[in-house]
Amino acid sequence: MTKTTTRLAPSPTGALHLGNLRTFLANYLLARQRGWKVLMRVEDIDGPRIKPGAAEEMLAELRWLGLDWSEPAVWQSRRMGQYESALARLAAMGAAYPCACSRKDALTASGAPHAEDGAQVYPGTCRGVYASAADASAAAGRPAAWRVKVTPEAITVADRFAGPRQFDLARTCGDFVVYRGEGLPAYQLAVVVDDAEAGVDAIVRGEDLLESAARQIHLRRLLGLAPEPAYWHLPLVVGPDGHRLAKRHGDTRLATYRQAGATPQRVLGLLAAWSGAIDRPREISMEDLLGRFDLDRMPRAPVVFIDADDRFLRGR
Ligand code: GLU
Repeated sequence: MTKTTTRLAPSPTGALHLGNLRTFLANYLLARQRGWKVLMRVEDIDGPRIKPGAAEEMLAELRWLGLDWSEPAVWQSRRMGQYESALARLAAMGAAYPCACSRKDALTASGAPHAEDGAQVYPGTCRGVYASAADASAAAGRPAAWRVKVTPEAITVADRFAGPRQFDLARTCGDFVVYRGEGLPAYQLAVVVDDAEAGVDAIVRGEDLLESAARQIHLRRLLGLAPEPAYWHLPLVVGPDGHRLAKRHGDTRLATYRQAGATPQRVLGLLAAWSGAIDRPREISMEDLLGRFDLDRMPRAPVVFIDADDRFLRGR
């Protein structure tokens, strides 16, 4: 039997902060406890939003915290050929079509759609309209994007943490972008191609990507990339206002706390408390945490980041 394989997939569009760190850590601990292989994939195809050097910094920060992976990192920006051929296959089977609609959708398609990006259902305006990408590009006055067709049907994400969830993509998003006009693959397509090629069969990530799992299952089925991976979508860390932890909640970047003197054991201690492994934040080693982490004790509700957490990390 081959080893179960998971991946850590940071996007260098922003820095590592306490919210995404908790998910990466939970993924890593689960993998270590269950003997999974851990891969690293840098999701660096978000064009202008990628800051130079940010990816290397992220990898260094994850290592500083004590995470590791078994093979050299895979960089999405170096895999364009694979994404292009997946698009060509979708187009050849009539499952994808060129779209001349506004840039906005195509641009937001590049990154993973996190909760507050706001969901819009594409009404299918360009479906069956253009005979070729060149026609759609001429109509749009710029290079056309590509969308994949969805059908009204319930797709079940058999999530191991959140429970089985059903999505009807025709109602949640409509035909969605798989390739942007700029010639870059959308997040949804790139993830599916990469996970399948790397043999990833266990995916652990934030619960705001649950609906994306349904889109990814749809793409996998079209591309004949069975079997589906097992999914664990974990609750997010939120600010006191209940929204996903973000800049407006202050500077929760790992880099900032490191500069303020936080040790890996201290950061792990807060993340461990947030994951139900210990009662309250205190310094803890990775080995100790490995013995204590229990997915069943992971809080089912979002964890709220409070001032006391910030003070703990700063040693105040
Ligand atoms: N790179 C994505 C993110 O940072 C995660 C994608 C995934 O796990 O599928 O949100």
